[in-house]
Amino acid sequence: MNSSSTSTDPARSFLSVDTARAAILDSLSPLCGWEKVAVRAALGRVLRTDVIAPYNVPSHDNSAMDGYAIRAADLDAGTDTALAVVGTAYAGRPFSGIVGAGQAVRIMTGASIPQGADTIVVQEVVRRSDDRVFVPAGQKKGQNLRRAGEDLAEGGVALAAGRRCGPAELGLIASLGIAEVDVYRPLRVAFFSTGDEIASIGRPLCPGEVYDSNRYTLFGALSRLGCDLIDMGVIPDRPDALEAAFRDASEAADVIITSGGVSVGEADFIREMMARMGEVAFWKLAIKPGRPMAFGRIRNAVLFGLPGNPVAVMVTYFQFVQDALLKLMGVTPLPPAQRFAVQAAFTLRKQPGRTEYLRGRLQRDGAACSVALAGAQGSGVLSSMSEADCFVVLPEDCLSVQPGDTVYVQPFHGLL
Ligand code: AMP
Ligand code: MG
Repeated sequence: MNSSSTSTDPARSFLSVDTARAAILDSLSPLCGWEKVAVRAALGRVLRTDVIAPYNVPSHDNSAMDGYAIRAADLDAGTDTALAVVGTAYAGRPFSGIVGAGQAVRIMTGASIPQGADTIVVQEVVRRSDDRVFVPAGQKKGQNLRRAGEDLAEGGVALAAGRRCGPAELGLIASLGIAEVDVYRPLRVAFFSTGDEIASIGRPLCPGEVYDSNRYTLFGALSRLGCDLIDMGVIPDRPDALEAAFRDASEAADVIITSGGVSVGEADFIREMMARMGEVAFWKLAIKPGRPMAFGRIRNAVLFGLPGNPVAVMVTYFQFVQDALLKLMGVTPLPPAQRFAVQAAFTLRKQPGRTEYLRGRLQRDGAACSVALAGAQGSGVLSSMSEADCFVVLPEDCLSVQPGDTVYVQPFHGLL
């Protein structure tokens, strides 16, 4: 665990987002377990071995268009050329003869290029009269052909190990005639909420209580990632209960995610229990929201102790946890952080020295895109996450934002 540089010494300065993210990722390596699954079952799973193309895709030179297969050398450079149509090639039903000098074959998209022909002329540009076709000048030799192996070459790596399979990958695997692939086993993630004021849904609230929302946002995010989930509920803030929860979680899961009770000066026992049962660093991050976070290991399980505030949970999950889980799942390379520059449509003053993740809504201004703030920005205001479609990422040195300033946004699409 590369967390020695991040002591709990309160005099130490705040840890930057990038440093924390790098420390987390550097300390993790992919799971060892894997299994062979049928193509459909590979959706969302991560390839453990390269998928090698057993033959060319496409397997034969074929036409990209409906038209005529001809020999480019037959064409007159200056005027229309009349060619004799000697047959038809359909997809799956090739023309068996040879295209000789002065001849053409009617051809459909996907049909094999007949022997002798080297060029496809699209049907829209020719004139047909009985068994003759008039081809205008200006055709380029080799046009409108799809070459054998153009998509995937035989023996080549069609998909590299570490690729997470989406719809395109399933199709690609099937296009190679491959029925099963090796994938990493699913990551097992145990998660629970802590805090004496946190109540599970299904019963009325007592005075001072709040319903547990973090377990539901985490459930949603982790489900999207395809993890096997162990939802351990709300654990009361008692040493015996916490100890049992951490013990059970570390036996059953690869990763433990908790929320609440990790900030300094809390009366909670959770920090104490994490420190006693594992090797855990308590970080003060230069981030808003989400300043306190714990990271380490309890026995063989990787531990993320997220803050309690519902927005802070989501911010820290997406900025620190999700990529870490992808790495454990075997994904390589990790997807680059998607960010793009847009104009701010809001005013804000900001403290230097921390990265802020505001909740934003993208809007179209003619051809340009701008971003407005999505509701109140408190770290407990979950409606801002629901209203938003992106994070607005303000770097540590930013002091203020004026309308028209360029800011970076991280769209939720693909993230959530
Ligand atoms: P903490 O980090 O434990 O100090 O919690 C910060 C704030 O988040 C407090 O107002 C908690 O009540 C709230 N909170 C903690 N856990 C949850 C949860 N699971 N669901 C909703 N709110 C929570
Ligand atoms: Mg608390």
